[in-house]
Amino acid sequence: MLLDGARIARTIREEVAPRVAAFDTAHGRPPTLHIVLVGDDPASQIYVRNKERAGAEAGLTVAVHRLASSVTVEDVLATVKSLNDDPACDGILVQAPLPKGIGKHGTELVFDAIDPRKDVDGFHPHNVGLLVQGRAVLKPCTPSGVVELLDRTGHAIAGKHAVVIGRSEIVGKPMALLLLQRDATVTICHSKTPDLVATCARADILVAAIGRPGFVTREFVKAGAVVIDVGINRVDSREQAVQLFGANHPRLAGFDQRGSMIVGDVHPAVAEVAGAMTPVPGGVGPLTIAMLLKNTIEAAVDR
Ligand code: NDP
Repeated sequence: MLLDGARIARTIREEVAPRVAAFDTAHGRPPTLHIVLVGDDPASQIYVRNKERAGAEAGLTVAVHRLASSVTVEDVLATVKSLNDDPACDGILVQAPLPKGIGKHGTELVFDAIDPRKDVDGFHPHNVGLLVQGRAVLKPCTPSGVVELLDRTGHAIAGKHAVVIGRSEIVGKPMALLLLQRDATVTICHSKTPDLVATCARADILVAAIGRPGFVTREFVKAGAVVIDVGINRVDSREQAVQLFGANHPRLAGFDQRGSMIVGDVHPAVAEVAGAMTPVPGGVGPLTIAMLLKNTIEAAVDR
């Protein structure tokens, strides 16, 4: 069973639209999302364009602030501060990753500077603390999208053994927390986990957030398990594409047209053992954007 994230994302967007319209009527302006895009990372440009388009379709105003990759931490902080102080700004998103020059510490300073009430990515330590305590309003978009997907496709979470591969701040850790809050028994795996395959093979719900194309193969997956593929990886070697999909797969035609393809962290052959599985593309990705729109209206209403 393929879990159609794109369809569920559409439904969430349809639910957001009347709330956006009601806010507009009450305040004389639509809710407004400000995106800060620093540098010219090609993937970030695409992500921001998609967020802009989805926001506009839902009736939000989306403003993108483009800064050159040579800017200093202080420049980015000044932009964030001006948005914090702007009463007509409801949501702020700083597109990650920031350029290398900003550094790890600089990146932390920038994300920490965002007003937590406008933090539509849910990455601010204040919101992370609320998430740990199970009372966050603004939750990270990708993991909360995964929970929506499970709920809306009728896959129970309570009482299940969930295994999350990956412990990043933006996916793995908040994913584990949200599943725990919903009464799953949660195991978090990472690059130092021994017996990774055996641990994953005990999962009723397996979430892969690793960043390695086709890493999760059949032996990771218990028969009938629900497999959520968060990975978004660009493959530009035809040999690797053939290794993943076999020489006659229809997706190879797309590869030949574009010279690359987007694949998840889960090997396509897992579909033969999983009870349900998200496709890539068209699974978790669209839900992430839908949850961003939902967070923006939540932030606008909550302030
Ligand atoms: P990170 O690189 O921040 O984290 C990857 C995690 O995977 C780390 O915790 C790492 O472990 C773990 N890992 C790496 N190699 C292995 C291994 N061999 N065995 C076990 N664990 C391993 O990535 P993100 O969490 O930011 O993203 C993960 C994937 O999800 C990427 O493909 C990204 O593009 C995609 N993504 C998709 C989104 C969507 O909307 N669908 C949104 C955000 C991300 P360790 O901590 O030990 O290094």
